[in-house]
Amino acid sequence: MTYTTQMHAARQGIITPEMEIAAKKEGIPAEELRHYIAEGKAVIPANKQHQCLNPNAIGSMLKTKINVNLGTSRDWKDIDMELHKVRQAVDMGAESIMDLSSYGDTRAFRQKLTQECPAIIGTVPIYDAVVYYHKPLKDITSEEWLDIVEMHAKDGVDFMTIHVGINKNTARRFKENRRLTNIVSRGGSIIFAWQEMTGQENPFYKHYDRILDICRKYDVTLSLGDACRPGCLADAGDISQIEELVTLGELTRRAWEKDVQVIIEGPGHMPLNQIEANMKIQQTVCQGAPFYVLGPLVTDIAPGYDHITAAIGGAIAASCGASFLCYVTPAEHLRLPDEKDVKEGIIASKIAAHAADIAKGVKGASDWDSAMSTARKNLDWEEMFRLCIDPEKARQYREEAKPEKEDTCSMCGNFCAVKNMNRILDGEIVNIYDE
Ligand code: SF4
Repeated sequence: MTYTTQMHAARQGIITPEMEIAAKKEGIPAEELRHYIAEGKAVIPANKQHQCLNPNAIGSMLKTKINVNLGTSRDWKDIDMELHKVRQAVDMGAESIMDLSSYGDTRAFRQKLTQECPAIIGTVPIYDAVVYYHKPLKDITSEEWLDIVEMHAKDGVDFMTIHVGINKNTARRFKENRRLTNIVSRGGSIIFAWQEMTGQENPFYKHYDRILDICRKYDVTLSLGDACRPGCLADAGDISQIEELVTLGELTRRAWEKDVQVIIEGPGHMPLNQIEANMKIQQTVCQGAPFYVLGPLVTDIAPGYDHITAAIGGAIAASCGASFLCYVTPAEHLRLPDEKDVKEGIIASKIAAHAADIAKGVKGASDWDSAMSTARKNLDWEEMFRLCIDPEKARQYREEAKPEKEDTCSMCGNFCAVKNMNRILDGEIVNIYDE
C-alpha cells in the first residue's frame, strides 16, 4: 500500500515508520497514535524531503511540544550565529524550529536546516516572498505567492504558517470593529496590506485547494495562521479573532478532506481568566485539531520578562488543550534574541510544557519531579544538578554562596529542615544552636 501524507496513511490503517518512532517517544501504542492522526487530533509534521528528521507527534493528548523561532533579519544577518542557535535549541530538547528569516539568502539557510537539522522545521512563506522577489509588496502576484509555498515544500519544510483566514470577510470585520493594537501578526499584516493595496482576495484563501495539493504532495502540515491574534489584552477574544477562528475551522475540514494535516495557531496576548474558554472554543470550532499558541502572554507590561508572561499563559493553555507552545524570549517586543535569550526562552517554555503535562496527566510526566524530590530529601546535590532543567545555573548558584555545612545550603544552614527531619526521624538528637 502507498500513501501521500501521514494522515492518508493513518486513514488506510497504515502505521508509518514516523508513527512508530513518535509513539515510542510518547510511551503509547503506535496504533493509538495512528487513530489520533486519522481523526486529525494529532499530527506528525514530516515532509518527505526532510530525510534527517527525528519525528515527533503533536496533539493535546500527547506530551506538549515546543517551537523555537530563529532566522536572520535586516538588522541581524549573522547566519553562523543563527545556526549556532539552532544547534543550541536542538540540544536543549526543542522539538521544532521555525525559520523566520527575512534577509539574505534565505533559501540556502532553509535548505541547510532541512538537510542537517533533526527537529521539525517550520516556515512562514509570506515573509520569504517579500525577500525573494525583491519588489514592492503590491506588485507580488497571486501566482508568485503560491510559487513560494511550493518552493518551501520542495525544500523539505515540515510545516508552514499560511495566513489564509484573513480573507476579505475577516478584513471587513476587522475594519468595522477597530482594536487597540490592530494586526500584530507579521504575516497577517503583510497579506492584509497586500489585499488593501490590490483590492484582491487573499491569494491563499482564493487558491486554498492549490495550497492543499502542494501540502498533500510533500506532506507539509498546514499551520493555519491567526493574522488577528490579539496583540494586547484589550483585543483578546474580540470579533476579529473569533471571526478568523471560525474561518480556520472551515478550512480545517477542507484540508482533512484532502488528507492534509493541520494545526491551528492561536493567541497572542490574553488575560489569564480567558485562556481556558479560548482553548475550548478552538477545540470545538476546529474539531480537535492541535492548537499552537504563541504565549499567550498574560500581561502587556513586562518587556524584558515576556518569557515569564508567556510561560504562565502557556502552562494554562497547554493544560486546557493546547498541544504546541511557541517559545517567547526575554527579547520579545525589543529585539532579535541572542543566544542567552534563546536559552532562557526555551527553558521557560519547557517548564510551561512540563507543568501542563503533569496537570493533564501525561503518562510518566511527574516521574522527573519525584526523582528531583527524592534527591532533595536525600540532600544529594549532584543528583539534583543532574536532574535540573538548567544544571549549569543551579550549580553556579550553589557555588556562589557555599554553606558552612556541605550537605545544607546557605539558605538555612543549621536550620535546614530537610536535614533536621531526616535526622530526627532516624532517632538522632537535633540541637541546631551549637552544631
Ligand atoms: S538549607 Fe533550607 S533551602 Fe537549603 S536544602 Fe536545607 S531546607 Fe532546603
